[in-house]
Formats: sequence, C-alpha cells, structure tokens
Amino acid sequence: MADIIIMASSATEKQINNVIKKVQGLGFDVNLSKGAEKTIIGIIGDTRGISDEIFKILPGVAQVISILKDYKLASREFHPQDTIIKVGGIEIGGNNFTIIAGPCSVENRKQLFKTAECIKKAGGSILRGGAFKPRTSPYSFLGLGFEGLKLLKEVKEFSGMPIITEVLSPEDIDGISEVADILQIGARNMFNYRLLQKVGRTKKPVFLKRAFSSTITEFLNCAEYILKEGNKDVILCERGIRSFDSTFTRNVLDLSAVPVLKKESHLPVFVDPSHGTGRRDLIIPMGKAAIAAGADGLMVEVHPKPEEALSDGFQSLTLEMFNRFMDEIKPVVKVMNKKLC
Ligand code: PEP
Ligand code: MN
Repeated sequence: MADIIIMASSATEKQINNVIKKVQGLGFDVNLSKGAEKTIIGIIGDTRGISDEIFKILPGVAQVISILKDYKLASREFHPQDTIIKVGGIEIGGNNFTIIAGPCSVENRKQLFKTAECIKKAGGSILRGGAFKPRTSPYSFLGLGFEGLKLLKEVKEFSGMPIITEVLSPEDIDGISEVADILQIGARNMFNYRLLQKVGRTKKPVFLKRAFSSTITEFLNCAEYILKEGNKDVILCERGIRSFDSTFTRNVLDLSAVPVLKKESHLPVFVDPSHGTGRRDLIIPMGKAAIAAGADGLMVEVHPKPEEALSDGFQSLTLEMFNRFMDEIKPVVKVMNKKLC
C-alpha cells in the first residue's frame, strides 16, 4: 500500500512531475506539499491495492509510506501544512485566530441585529445563529426554520459578517447554503454519515462539532467522511463530552483534545466553551485556556437579554460580557503568536 511519497531533497522538478504523472496515470489525484527541504506527494483514494514498489523504483523518490489509520485525508502525515480556509475575506487556521459569536437561536430581528452589532464592534468575525435547533425536548423552541434563515440573510447584509448556521437534515442543505457561509454539523449529528456525505459534496466550509460520546478517532473519521467527498474545508470543534460528573458543568470540556487534534490533523480546531461548560461565568477562563492549548478559534453564545433567551440563556454572554471577553482574550491570542482576524 502506498499513501505518501517523499521525494529526495535532491529530486528535480522533472522527477517530481514524473511521479505525479505516474500517480495520476493510475487514476488517483495527488496532494502536493512543497516544503523548504522536501516535497511530499500524497495519493488521494483507496490505495490498498497499490504496491509501494512501483514508486520506490522511480528516480528521485526517497521513501514511500502507508497510512494505517482509517482517516487519511484528515491526517497530518498526509497533509503536513495547516489547512487555511477562506470565508468572506477571513482566513481560518494557520496563524489566524477567529471568533465566532452570536445567539444560540435566531429569535427575532431586534435580538439578532443588536447582537450582531455588538459582536462586529468588539472584533468578532463570524456570526452564529441557529434557525433549525436540535433540542433535547421536542417541546422546547425548535427554531424559526426558514423564517430564521431570512433574518440571517438580512443581518449578513447589515453587518457584512459571514454567517454560520446548523444543518439538521440533508434536504435543507441547498436552502441553507443560499445564506450560510459555513454549514454547522452539531454534536447530535456528528455520526449522521449521510448528512456528512452530503455536506461533503457542497462547496461550503463545514464546522463539525464533536459528539458528546465520541472518541477522537471517531471524530476524525467523521471529518474524513466529508473530506472523502471532495470538500477540503472542514473545521473541527471540541464542545464538551459526557462524563460522570455534571454537578457543576453541563459537559466536560476536553481541552487535551486540542493539542491532540492539532498533532493528528491539519484541520483548524475550534473550542466552544458555551456548550462545553453550560455556564456563562466559565466562558472567559475556559476560552483563554483553549487559546493557550493551541485552538484556532472560539465559538461563543451571546444574547442581549440571556434571561429571556429561548435557548441556552444560562450559557450566553451578555453584550457587556462579550466586550470583556474580547478584551481578556486578546493578550492570550498574542502570546500564542496568533493574529485575531
Ligand atoms: C449549537 O452550537 O447551536 C449547538 C446546538 O451545539 P452542539 O451541537 O455542540 O450541542
Ligand atoms: Mn446553544
């Protein structure tokens, strides 16, 4: 099996092209990583039937490696450089640090516009807001649906901020894609493989949240489902997992997942301290800790009147707290050599 071909540092351009042609001639696409020292050619596709010998004999080839993990496209071995995702003039990943903020649910025009105005002014880059809400109880507020999407379209024009919103079902993807700049797959749907495949066939970046009970291997395999369909723009989000003690926090925010994911994968890694803790007073400390752990961005819930919110008010920052949050995270972003954008 051959997945990665490492060219010798002395390999010529002609030798590199020759190897690429050989790979393409076998019906595979390549992922080319040109570093200062060496060029790495990744083979995209199911390479189980391909012997490494056919590449080893080519001039300029130093080493042929097989990836034994299930997730190949998501792995850092296959794609050593950080993936950088462009969304409406913003770059996510690499040395950039991105704040996604907004209400848990889109409730009405006033609530949405007021929140967006505050977020933009304080330096947030992407606006979140759920129109289709996956709630634990079917009697809870399930979102405004396409009405909410209309409001998101209006607030996008008003604020100029890109929009992220959750997709619950494959049949909504086309309609939601007309407004959303990023498609969110929530924790409850991380294992919905048909949904993952369908967003993998769109050209929209996908924000994949870790399921409550998911191992890191399962999480990366779900990202692989999206990548395998051709969509290269996947963002991973740690949002807390279930453990034995939920006395003080809604979930256990697994911050060790951040450096593990950064090491295992080239995809940008975000943390959501709102759902991760379920408490607004823990968003600032855990947000700072997530930045220090190496996250590429944070997702936080914000509401002008959290006590009146139709969902997740207890874990939403007030507008005043969001300003404080931005002031407090800035020095930590700087220490981590990242640029807030
Ligand atoms: C959300 O971000 O709106 C949400 C429902 O979060 P999660 O899927 O992580 O529970
Ligand atoms: Mn929420």
